[in-house]
Amino acid sequence: MGADNAPLSFRCSRCGNTFRVETGVDNICPVCGFKCAPDKCRQMESSDQGY
Ligand SMILES: [Zn+2]
Repeated sequence: MGADNAPLSFRCSRCGNTFRVETGVDNICPVCGFKCAPDKCRQMESSDQGY
């Protein structure tokens, strides 16, 4: 609360790829096919600030 609805990303625990979390569907890593879940992959806020 307080912050905007920052989109969440999963950090794949198998290959380290990060990808956008989608609610209501399986979150399959597009790189390695690992099925991420909140208890398996780390969730992080992906703020749009580049680097
Ligand atoms: Zn992966």
